[in-house]
Amino acid sequence: MKKIQMVDLKGQYENIKETVNHSIQNVLDTNAYINGPEVHKFQASLEQYLDAKHVIPCANGTDALQIAMMGLNLKPGDEVITADFTFAATVEVIALLQLTPVLVDVEEDTFNISIAAIEKAITPKTKAIVPVHLFGQAANMEAIMQLAEAHNLYVIEDNAQAIGANYKWADGTKTKAGVIGHVASTSFFPSKNLGCYGDGGAIFTNDDELAHTLRGVVNHGMYERYHHDVVGVNSRLDSIQAAVLNAKLPLLDTYNDARQAAAAQYSAALAGHKNIITPFIAGDKDSHVFHQYTLRIVDADRNGLMQHLLDKGIPCAIYYPIPLHSQKAYRDERYKESDFPVTNQLVKEVLSLPMHTELDEEQIKFITDAILDFLK
Ligand SMILES: *Cc1c(COP(=O)(O)O)cnc(C)c1O
Repeated sequence: MKKIQMVDLKGQYENIKETVNHSIQNVLDTNAYINGPEVHKFQASLEQYLDAKHVIPCANGTDALQIAMMGLNLKPGDEVITADFTFAATVEVIALLQLTPVLVDVEEDTFNISIAAIEKAITPKTKAIVPVHLFGQAANMEAIMQLAEAHNLYVIEDNAQAIGANYKWADGTKTKAGVIGHVASTSFFPSKNLGCYGDGGAIFTNDDELAHTLRGVVNHGMYERYHHDVVGVNSRLDSIQAAVLNAKLPLLDTYNDARQAAAAQYSAALAGHKNIITPFIAGDKDSHVFHQYTLRIVDADRNGLMQHLLDKGIPCAIYYPIPLHSQKAYRDERYKESDFPVTNQLVKEVLSLPMHTELDEEQIKFITDAILDFLK
């Protein structure tokens, strides 16, 4: 059996080496390192793939979120509601822009932002909601868009973990995650579902005017050379990273299929066990692209299981071990522990298993056998 990796970037690279190398060599041969043809090609290909009117490439997923918020012209003191159970980047940029983060609890089944909690948190100062499509599955966008419309709020999707997921509406139609809200951000960090070989990110929107604003914000607030109309940032996707992404974007659906197949094999072996809750998929099979495959270990020794797996050479991880409202940087006296019953429970129960495009059946069986052996 091949050694099990949490994320197997090397194995994936071996299978696409020729295309990626050719793509990178092309950048080296043309010396178009910044804003070159590879970047424009990637932008157009991603617009087509997502069916998004505008993709604005930038330097990373955290910048993408920040730029999206800058483009909406939110003002210090505006309240922005986001999930308590996520990676810190989301709340970090809200705080950096001197907006007021309002963390709310998540749903127990999908781990995504709770609709009831959003509703409860809306005040006259609320200006935006940032749903995070956690672990590869879109949040309940239908309910979020309805709330946003009723209260005149922006919706900024943090789509760093769910690129390629198809959100299913109540009427059965589907839209790609990231083109539902007013604007969305994504990350091409190497381990993401569509990863480059360094840092990268992008912003998506269907709004022409906002797209124009954002293209200036990413480029020093410049709309005409050396005319700086707004305070901007410097955030670029470089051509070498775009070349890698051009080689990988045509494979994204195949990669997501491989993740879904691995998830299905995990769940087939583990579902129904009294101490295990396998991931819940709210729509169809293609609604969840499994950036992570995350179990809940209930009424059992989650940390002991983790150690047991590590001892057997099976990497695994806790995403995320500490709720954001308990982090030193984001504590606030407005929060009560009773506001976050689900997140406080999840941080004690979640365990993410190896998930990538190169997992094989033998490896997955080895992992599920080891879990069942420990839990008996
Ligand atoms: C990875 C990630 C980000 C940040 O992306 P970077 O490219 O690392 O800056 C933001 N939000 C979520 C939910 C992420 O998983």
